[in-house]
Amino acid sequence: MMQCQYKHLINGQWESSETLGANINPSDLDDLVGNYAQGDQQQTINAIEAAKTAFQSWSCSPIQQRFDMLDAVGSEILARKDELAKLLAREEGKALSDALGEVIRAGQIFKFFAGECVRQTGDKLASTRQGMEVEVTREPVGVVGLITPWNFPIAIPAWKIAPALAYGNTVVFKPAELVPASAWALADIIHRAGAPAGVFNLVLGKGSIVGETLVNHLDVAAISFTGSEGTGRNIASKVVARMGKVQLEMGGKNPLVVLDDADLEVAAEVAVNGAFYATGQRCTASSRFIVTKGIHDRFVAAVVNKMGKLEVGHALDTNTKIGPVVDKKQLDNVCQYIRVGKDEGAKLAFGGEILQRKTKGFFLQPTLFTQANSSMRIAKEEIFGPVACVIKVADYEEALAVANDTVFGLSSGIVTTSLKYANHFKRHAHSGMVMVNAPTAGVDYHVPFGGRNGSSYGSREQGRYAAEFYTTVKTVYIAS
Ligand code: ADP
Repeated sequence: MMQCQYKHLINGQWESSETLGANINPSDLDDLVGNYAQGDQQQTINAIEAAKTAFQSWSCSPIQQRFDMLDAVGSEILARKDELAKLLAREEGKALSDALGEVIRAGQIFKFFAGECVRQTGDKLASTRQGMEVEVTREPVGVVGLITPWNFPIAIPAWKIAPALAYGNTVVFKPAELVPASAWALADIIHRAGAPAGVFNLVLGKGSIVGETLVNHLDVAAISFTGSEGTGRNIASKVVARMGKVQLEMGGKNPLVVLDDADLEVAAEVAVNGAFYATGQRCTASSRFIVTKGIHDRFVAAVVNKMGKLEVGHALDTNTKIGPVVDKKQLDNVCQYIRVGKDEGAKLAFGGEILQRKTKGFFLQPTLFTQANSSMRIAKEEIFGPVACVIKVADYEEALAVANDTVFGLSSGIVTTSLKYANHFKRHAHSGMVMVNAPTAGVDYHVPFGGRNGSSYGSREQGRYAAEFYTTVKTVYIAS
């Protein structure tokens, strides 16, 4: 297959670096997707300065211009969805069907925020004082730094870049090192859709260099980050210390409650989809199945049966349902957790083995532990791979308590045919998103996404709620 060199986009120009990084296909380690430029501190500063200059005009640009640009980006992504999905699956390893879904979602996000450009509103209010009127409007915040992870190489960048530009901000985008190709493809589309020089900048490279420079630079008004909890905390402390705006989306340890009255087929399908699709590498993946005792054994048998039918293999193979783990480091980490689960006394009900396929890659069986409990590390810490555990409970009340017994709070789900329990769970689950008879992962593009506690910090992403982060409010008094 073709190899490429992926460059930065700084002030409207494609630019390389002395140091290059290799982008390797996790389904086939002999397949080099391309080499990417690794940006340095000066290149990052140049991008920030270009964005600062461009902000003067972009922040006042006609909303029609912004609409046209974002709409064109969305159209091109959708028109090239098959090719972009292949590239994504090749560099990240998710199965082609999942990659296609992600690319379509990215296109839809750009279309949604194109619409938001021409739907921006404010308030006009009466004043409490005689002869005075009040207006409340939203204005862009300035240069925003967008730092993204490897697990959704196009959708997460899309849901940060599209609202940032729609509301009149300028952008410096730093994608994860493992997925520069999708980021480059997106930057190329935005550039050709007519983003003026400096409005949108891409700097590829390391978190410790490009990311840190963005986080510490006083001209970066806001940082939106998705990634691991440790990195998120570190970023937040630095941005807050300099009075910047920050938004974090981090990990999850998402519970799926299954009650005795659940439809068994629905429960097993929701569980397998939520835990193992996309190789479990989703922050919304279900990792704890909390199951009442009357259905427990039947549920485990049904899930194990489905797991046995999941084809693990090369992401581009059309039979594949579960692609490889993204890289060696991540594979080692997940395997370490499998060892920890066994040592802690959980029972391995399925999987746990590394698999050999025709090509060299990081293939791992989807893995299920039973006899787990909330004090075990496999039930407490985010594993971020195709591993889930089952915790048996007596009744709904215990299930809810166990579900909420976590430092995270992104997504949670319940499978039940009882309206009473579904309603109670909706209200009392400590998470930003709740799914009833649906997988904990898999969300719409037009509504808010985010969590509570250790999962998220700052205002929500996506939908109209994105305006909260990407704008600042101005209150104007007019005396007549
Ligand atoms: P993961 O473990 O999934 O790679 P990280 O939180 O390390 O998650 O990475 C998410 C994103 O944050 C990546 O783009 C990465 O390069 C970036 N990053 C990592 N460390 C830092 C840092 N110290 N400052 C800013 N960005 C960082």
